[in-house]
Amino acid sequence: MKATVLENKAVLTYKDVPTPEPGPGHVRLKVKAISICGSDIKRYVDGHRMYPLILGHENSGVIDRVGEGVSESYIGKHAAIIPLVPCFECEQCQRGYYSACHSYSFIGSRQSGGFAEFVDLPERNDLILPDALSFEHAALIEPSTVARHMLDLGDFKSRQTAIVLGAGSIGLMAVQWLRILGAKLIIVTDILEDNLQIASRLGAHVTLNPSKVDVIKEVQRLVGDGADLVLEATGVPQVLEQTLSITRPRGRVVLAGNQPLDRSLPLTFIENMMRREIGLIGCFMSYSAPFPGHEWTETIAALLNGSLDMDTMISHRYPLSKAPDVFERIGAHELAHQKIILNPEETA
Ligand SMILES: [Zn+2]
Ligand SMILES: [Zn+2]
Repeated sequence: MKATVLENKAVLTYKDVPTPEPGPGHVRLKVKAISICGSDIKRYVDGHRMYPLILGHENSGVIDRVGEGVSESYIGKHAAIIPLVPCFECEQCQRGYYSACHSYSFIGSRQSGGFAEFVDLPERNDLILPDALSFEHAALIEPSTVARHMLDLGDFKSRQTAIVLGAGSIGLMAVQWLRILGAKLIIVTDILEDNLQIASRLGAHVTLNPSKVDVIKEVQRLVGDGADLVLEATGVPQVLEQTLSITRPRGRVVLAGNQPLDRSLPLTFIENMMRREIGLIGCFMSYSAPFPGHEWTETIAALLNGSLDMDTMISHRYPLSKAPDVFERIGAHELAHQKIILNPEETA
């Protein structure tokens, strides 16, 4: 089969690789749509723990083959990848904290992923979908679940006020979930006007560009002492430092942006957090019990009833064979994008 393989830091090749055969307890997905994740781009730009690796974990397709012990009735069913492969046995898995599993695998990071014509999955890692869902929309289920999980971690309640920092794909998914779950006010910040326009279309009430306005002052004007919930989805240290100043006392900040690890925060940050009794909560992936969690079933329901708008999130579509070129342009900051869909069936 054809696949796009990360062979070294910033070396991505579209080539022939052996087609996987599903082993016992596994299924094989014939891939119909792939969405590029920010983490795929990070693995390409910064390098990764292992080579060669087929990247990709935001996929949908049709189950075309099953391994020993898996019901043949799965064949022909539409499915999306659930990328986390927890052990289901350790202390954290027993608690339902699957993303804190002591010995997990991850499709597209620690084992072959979905930038390919076929992908092999444990049966528990296929999310069976109604046929009515489009493959492109289904490829965007995973990033939606991360945003939904952030709202859970932030204990979001309807009629609360929220600020989303960063209108990339996770930020935009968060805007949608805040709208769906009845936020009273959704404020979004981003330095790119295009991203802010999309955020408005998806439900943001106010958009702020920090390169043009003083975000802290604007937030004070709009919500006084700060918002109930602040979602950090930029991974930019200066933005992280501002989070507490725009969160009300006893409010919550949920962090999902990957920060540069060679930077540090002044301890005035902790002082501020203590004085305002703000809850600072980390978010890693999107899982809850029973696996993979309500984040996933709610996303399917929101896609079926039309409340989650995936079409507005998709900025580009390419054949999978173009992935090396697409990543090169992204790495060189020559391709401003939202979600990019790759199609393994189209030939360039
Ligand atoms: Zn992802
Ligand atoms: Zn475990």
